Amino acid sequence: MSKTVKALLSVCVVAAATAGTAHAQEQVVNLYSARHYSTDEALYSGFTKATGIKINRVDADDAGILARLKAEGAASPADVILLVDAARLYKGEVDGLFQPIQSAVLNEAIPANLRSKPAADGGIAWYGLSTRARVVVYNKIKVQKADVDTYEELGDPKNKGKLCIRSGSHPYNLSLFGAVTEHMGEQKAEAWLKGVVANLARPPKGGDTDQIKAVAAGECDIAVTNSYYLARMMRSTKPEDVAVVNKVGVVFPNQDSWGTHLNISGGAVAKHSKNQANAIKFLEYLASPEAQNYLANGNNEWPAAKGVTLDNPALKAMTGGQPFKSETIPISAVGANTTKVQQMLDRVGFQ
Ligand code: FE
Repeated sequence: MSKTVKALLSVCVVAAATAGTAHAQEQVVNLYSARHYSTDEALYSGFTKATGIKINRVDADDAGILARLKAEGAASPADVILLVDAARLYKGEVDGLFQPIQSAVLNEAIPANLRSKPAADGGIAWYGLSTRARVVVYNKIKVQKADVDTYEELGDPKNKGKLCIRSGSHPYNLSLFGAVTEHMGEQKAEAWLKGVVANLARPPKGGDTDQIKAVAAGECDIAVTNSYYLARMMRSTKPEDVAVVNKVGVVFPNQDSWGTHLNISGGAVAKHSKNQANAIKFLEYLASPEAQNYLANGNNEWPAAKGVTLDNPALKAMTGGQPFKSETIPISAVGANTTKVQQMLDRVGFQ
């Protein structure tokens, strides 16, 4: 090797080292988020203002984020992952895409039933950050509320031909059915699923909002939806949305038994995060009362952190201003049931 080349090489090494240092000094969190709400912007700038840590955001849907993390492997720049639904968070955990973390702040703020099952050393793979209920919507004229105020009744022959619901294997339903399995046991849950299929007014299609609209349009009398889709329509001033909302009633099922199924959006630290301390700091910030308000209100959800209340007119109207009873089973158990549920769906022919 000539002297010049050697000299050049050493210059390059020094330059690279300097660049590396500069990079390390620029405090960042690389965020892969499946949440895309305008209020989330204020959330991120609040964090940067308070800590000087910059947020680089990559937006994709949940499936896209999980696929991207897998494809990137150890080279992934991701630090924090935000996903919606326990079924997906559980999937990310078992696929080894997250690293369990230790945070006294998060353990204090987020109820134990709204996070992953602790590892042997107490590490937590993901934390719930907002909550949504899976509720029943019905035609106010044709259906008695008392006939749809439990999940069990969705599979009761009295509701034959009345039900609209999205695909059984969508994460929102995998989680609901995983919860039902946890409450009823596998055998009863499968019989119930068979009943649900027998009660369908049409083959599953569309998203939750489509099911609410189908009730208003008279295509079915009963539908299942996440609470925020209905809340969004309740807050809309579009005449067509107002017309839909006026036609439907809503019920929070199982108030006299195990409570309404509650799901979460949640956050995790990426397995190959190079900014782990900042990533934990960001998740801790998301659990703070200020951030919880943005997170919840941005999508008409409820805060996950203890003791944080919010003033959302649609959610207030939906619950009659009263607190509702939600299930208390660990959401991690719901995630763990999803494989079993998928097999049950295949057996009962639930698309
Ligand atoms: Fe959704």
